[in-house]
Amino acid sequence: MITDGDLYRENQLLRRKLRAFLTQARENEQKMRRFHEQELRLISTPSLSELVQRVLYNYRTAFTLDVVGLTLHDPGYEIQRILEDEGVRVAEFTSLHFSAETDALDTLFGVSLEPRLGVFRPHEHAALFPDNCHAQSIALLPLVRYGELIGSLNLGSNDPQRFVAGSATDFLQRLATIVAICLENATNHERLKRVGLTDSLTGVNNRRFFDQRLDEEVARAQRSGEPLACLFLDIDHFKRINDQHGHRVGDRVLREVAGMIREQLRSTDVLGRYGGEEFSALLVNAEKEKALEIAERIRGVIAARRFSLEDGGTLSATISIGVSSLPATVEGNEDIAEELLDRADQALYLAKSSGRNRVIPAEEGRNAQVTELKLGVQMA
Ligand code: GH3
Ligand code: MG
Ligand code: MG
Repeated sequence: MITDGDLYRENQLLRRKLRAFLTQARENEQKMRRFHEQELRLISTPSLSELVQRVLYNYRTAFTLDVVGLTLHDPGYEIQRILEDEGVRVAEFTSLHFSAETDALDTLFGVSLEPRLGVFRPHEHAALFPDNCHAQSIALLPLVRYGELIGSLNLGSNDPQRFVAGSATDFLQRLATIVAICLENATNHERLKRVGLTDSLTGVNNRRFFDQRLDEEVARAQRSGEPLACLFLDIDHFKRINDQHGHRVGDRVLREVAGMIREQLRSTDVLGRYGGEEFSALLVNAEKEKALEIAERIRGVIAARRFSLEDGGTLSATISIGVSSLPATVEGNEDIAEELLDRADQALYLAKSSGRNRVIPAEEGRNAQVTELKLGVQMA
């Protein structure tokens, strides 16, 4: 028989359960609100660099994590270039890693592409987190777009019970989906911006981009006191290549030459197609001697190259290069960027008039250069 006492106890039990459910519901609601706020913040992030920083730092505080790492698949160094251009020193970001291949990520997530929760094992997981990671439990979330792995978001906690294999991952999966979408959006946005600044034939920057960067780099060099060098490059007798082999072959030579110049420069240098078969380059933090050495290397590799023709034959091409550098003689001159480029152009003119396939340094100071230029014209 059920007594009043039984009913009372059952009632008490139900009340306790209800209270526990309510507390849980309230906590979940708060968690969802916090999560939602982070989502909105992420979606409205204007640049890739800010997005990456928000994921790495804001998520750590918002979700009381002890460590967050991000690994991105970046086979063509595109993301790294975008971040560097936005002023991020990628190498100093120890919680951010890039992989050229997806092999390591594929092994990690297998075909199911599901989050991996469990114990942090340094020999297996150290590369996914910042140096000296002491996490006890981790959640590795695959970042997937259209069925492809684009990276992984790696969360770590000092609490061994925080991420336990087999627990529900809906919330984490949603987090990873949002991050993946935002990363893709930000990268696409940057790609679009760059389309108008890239030369479609050669893939290097166009003149508009180069001119913009020239001003920025000169201002930066003046502020920092670091040297800056400028190269002006022009393929020799390119018209003959077109005339003898046709425009299509000319286009291919142009594309390959652009690639060969790019290969000799560092990722922080700026290369632009200035016009037809002319290129200009800014060598950041390079002394004049260094710039001459690089220019000579470019000249050498192009002269040594045999460009293959469809009929099985080959053709050769050469390039002439003028080199100028900062610091210029006059300080605080507003036309300093223009002068840097002009002096490289004038040196190129000398290289042409004195026989082509050579590197000529610009003389310090404008007048000396103009005098030589006149001599060059007379010699030609
Ligand atoms: P120099 O050694 O004095 O520089 O002689 P050059 O023949 O290279 O110079 P010139 O300025 O007389 O001719 C440049 C040629 O480059 C003419 C033009 O048809 C060709 N050219 C410019 N842009 C392109 C391009 O996009 N594709 C191809 N195939 N040719 C181009
Ligand atoms: Mg030419
Ligand atoms: Mg030319």
